[in-house]
Amino acid sequence: AAKAAGKNRFLRFHPDMMAALVQRTDMESGLQFALQGGEITVDFQPIVSHRSGQVVQFEALARWDRGAGRVPPSDFIPLAERTGLIRDIGLEVMSQAMAQLADWLGEDPQRSLAVNVSGVQLQEHDFAAKVLGLAETRGVAARQLVLEVTESVFFHADCDLIRQLSTLRDAGARVALDDFGTGYSSLGRLQDLPVDTVKIDKTFVSMVRTGSERLPILSSMINMAHSLGLTVTAEGIETASQADYLTALDCDALQGYLFSLPEPAARLEKALRRAEEVLGALQQR
Ligand code: C2E
Ligand code: MG
Ligand code: MG
Ligand code: MG
Repeated sequence: AAKAAGKNRFLRFHPDMMAALVQRTDMESGLQFALQGGEITVDFQPIVSHRSGQVVQFEALARWDRGAGRVPPSDFIPLAERTGLIRDIGLEVMSQAMAQLADWLGEDPQRSLAVNVSGVQLQEHDFAAKVLGLAETRGVAARQLVLEVTESVFFHADCDLIRQLSTLRDAGARVALDDFGTGYSSLGRLQDLPVDTVKIDKTFVSMVRTGSERLPILSSMINMAHSLGLTVTAEGIETASQADYLTALDCDALQGYLFSLPEPAARLEKALRRAEEVLGALQQR
């Protein structure tokens, strides 16, 4: 009887659940083939400095173009992390990004390339060696690399993970704390983390409207980071007033749709020129 009941319970599986399960399994196997099939590509978004008036960095963002359309990173990155595929995808993104940006980076040692790194990748004992090896192969200097990690990476930080980051930093690469302000760690914890830059999350940038009473948080975040010797990038800049505001707070670098959308390598030059034009226009007012 118990068996029959169990069987019945199983049969009460809702058709919607079945569809969701099929879709997920389908996406999992799809992602495996996507890598081999060249469906994983990279878009680049410029990051500008108000001091130099130039694009100083590009952030590489993974893209998955399935025949049926584009799968957003917010869908496939978590899936890749669960299945461990993020290790190969992460290296593929770095490899493509280094190859596509090698010439631009080679023209000026101050320019850099930022790549997103998942905590799963940092758990590999040879992650740092792989990254540095790749950079050498691609002719990119380690000091021109920025590894973007989120606060959650440090939540269960063990010595191995810290060692990977230290090896990279010792070689000259920098570490940026991505989506800063959205995680659990306090401003006070910042000085204990092996990071060189904070990237202020777009939710804070979107608070910039005339008269918002929460703006002191933004200026505290920037002042605190600066007093610890860190540089600050603001992400998600969509309006001129946000750019003005963050520049007035002495934010070191700005990134967002106002300057340029993330673009494929073929439109890199266009994205770069547009971003510098927008910055120039802002500075002329
Ligand atoms: P992220 O690293 O914080 O990247 C910034 C995200 O904000 C990107 O979304 C970018 O397209 C978007 N963005 C840029 N400017 C603006 C703006 O002005 N307004 C708004 N609303 N959004 C803006 P995207 O490309 O969808 O990527 C989402 C997230 O997926 C990334 O957030 C990152 O956490 C993750 N991701 C992307 N590529 C990779 C990768 O190669 N490896 C890993 N581990 N994660 C990745
Ligand atoms: Mg990022
Ligand atoms: Mg970010
Ligand atoms: Mg973000």
